Amino acid sequence: MDYPFERTVYNEEETGKLAKLFAKEIESGDIIILNGELGAGKTFFVKHAASVWGINNVSSPSFAIVNSYKGNFIVYHFDFYRIKNPAELFDIGLNDYLNDTEAVIFIEWGNLFPEILSQPRIEIKIDTLDNSIRKFNFTKYE
Ligand code: ADP
Ligand code: MG
Repeated sequence: MDYPFERTVYNEEETGKLAKLFAKEIESGDIIILNGELGAGKTFFVKHAASVWGINNVSSPSFAIVNSYKGNFIVYHFDFYRIKNPAELFDIGLNDYLNDTEAVIFIEWGNLFPEILSQPRIEIKIDTLDNSIRKFNFTKYE
């Protein structure tokens, strides 16, 4: 995948394939931000990406704020949707997670707190074009 990268998919199966293609190039220490409206497919994308590393039980972290998994990589999967104040993120130890170079980190709704995400990262923007049509934009910030 060469960044920036754009791809339109027409159904869930194509999103799943794209997520797996993406996951194959990910290394521990990578931070991946997913932005897009409710139902865009952020959690769906993480679920399929993580399956490449032998993790098959991903669920939405929107209530827990962060879910942790261990497969070929440790995966921390955040959802900032319900966070009201960036102080809450420091309370849960976000910095320790972000500095864990052994883990792969996904953050849904990272765009809600852009000020805390200055590290090298990949941002994925998902636009819902129609019922099952999604446009993905992948951008890398070094
Ligand atoms: P988000 O985490 O962005 O709020 P979810 O991943 O929880 O969204 O939900 C995405 C929903 O959209 C799922 O119900 C999924 O079945 C549906 N969907 C329909 N078409 C697609 C597609 N092409 N890619 C991903 N999800 C899709
Ligand atoms: Mg979600």
